[in-house]
Amino acid sequence: MSLIILGSVAFDALETPFGKTDKIVGGAASYAAIAASYLYDHVKIISVVGEDFGQDNLEKFTSKHIDISGIQIKSGEKSFFWSGRYHNDMNTRDTLVTELNVLGDFDPIIPTSYQDAEYILLGNLSPQVQLNALERLTKRPKLVVMDTMNFWMNIALDDLKEVLKQVDVLTINDEEARQLSGQYSLVKAAAVILTMGPKYLIIKKGEHGALLFGENSIFVAPALPLAEVFDPTGAGDTFAGGFIGYLANKGVINFESMKAAVIYGSALASFCVEKFGTERIETLSALEIDQRIQTFSTLTSFVI
Ligand code: AMP
Repeated sequence: MSLIILGSVAFDALETPFGKTDKIVGGAASYAAIAASYLYDHVKIISVVGEDFGQDNLEKFTSKHIDISGIQIKSGEKSFFWSGRYHNDMNTRDTLVTELNVLGDFDPIIPTSYQDAEYILLGNLSPQVQLNALERLTKRPKLVVMDTMNFWMNIALDDLKEVLKQVDVLTINDEEARQLSGQYSLVKAAAVILTMGPKYLIIKKGEHGALLFGENSIFVAPALPLAEVFDPTGAGDTFAGGFIGYLANKGVINFESMKAAVIYGSALASFCVEKFGTERIETLSALEIDQRIQTFSTLTSFVI
């Protein structure tokens, strides 16, 4: 039994009001897999990198016992590269560079040892690649979670709607929920999106937390009020990795377990933003995670 994380493994160059990085390890699958590895032991990545990625960077995953046999390494080619600059409010950013490189013609290969997967996160990639990966599994996992973004809604909406029919949980941000549904109210947006395939929907609202919809219920999770957000890159992917990692560990899929999973995702995402890139989430301890979960619990508990 295992958890597959499909997504980009990349180099990023980031600029925030606090500083700038050269090329550092990024990519949706990197964040999600590292986050999930704190909650579940059998995490496996499906992705592609170029020759430039290097063994030392792959060790970021293997050192956490993440299976990388599904990461193709293309000799003579370059890894996906993305560069972004955040505005002062840290909620908005401009994409400066997107070099698809090896992602341009990515054709996911599923190693035989991955075929027992019970959980899969279809991380932010082209919907066609997400569909190919899902179709190449001989057995449908018991939980399919999908993350996507407005970029794919703009250029591949029909494919995206095809994938949506096959997923159990969709995670998107508030603007994307509005775009996908054509509704401004997030409650109305959720109602529309839940007719498109997913049984559950998570709407991420950045520093304002996340909403979980499903089973005719709504759960509201806060984001941790942080004095400083250093770099929000990958927070959404970290959230998704924490969310599915918790569920894989628990083995129970219903609205109640998803409420806790949303809190675990939020807690891991709150660490992610404390440093550049994956730096902070690479060095977490079980105690730190437990303490932060406790903080979330205290933050939201009250007596009537
Ligand atoms: P997030 O901050 O959650 O939007 O995720 C940021 C990560 O997504 C970065 O590490 C990028 O490498 C990766 N990324 C950005 N654009 C794309 C894209 N079009 N396809 C796949 N990954 C991307």
